[in-house]
Amino acid sequence: MLNLMLRGRITRWEMRLTELYLPQIKRKRSKLHGWGVFALENINKNKRVITYEGEKITSKASEDREDRYLRRGEIWCFRLNRRWVIDANVGGNIARFINHSCKPNCYSNVIDGRIWIIAGKAVKPGEELTYNYHTDGDKEIQCRCRPGCKNRL
Ligand SMILES: [Zn+2]
Repeated sequence: MLNLMLRGRITRWEMRLTELYLPQIKRKRSKLHGWGVFALENINKNKRVITYEGEKITSKASEDREDRYLRRGEIWCFRLNRRWVIDANVGGNIARFINHSCKPNCYSNVIDGRIWIIAGKAVKPGEELTYNYHTDGDKEIQCRCRPGCKNRL
């Protein structure tokens, strides 16, 4: 289960000042793991990049699905709040291919009931986008964010 960490919180007022244009990104093969998502242009720090889309299900309903995905080494479920989970395996968008990193260049935040992936620093064209999944649960998957990373997801 992916979890939001309420660090780098952005106020609604600050968000209103942010233009609604979303930066161009692209799915490509990643050196980290499988598919990744890459910036096609410069992205400013704290710029909203993409929403994390998927089927909205209850926490209870997500338990079986998560077990099934984890057996395949996949993580698709993102906790929206205590009651709800977004399952990107059903109706997900390109955001589901953004890889985890322990030293990421993006972070996640819930704004008006939607999960956003937001640039945590200035991102250059061609850079792979990453954020910290803050997973809970059994930590069955070895992190591959860099050679020798000891963390598990
Ligand atoms: Zn790592």
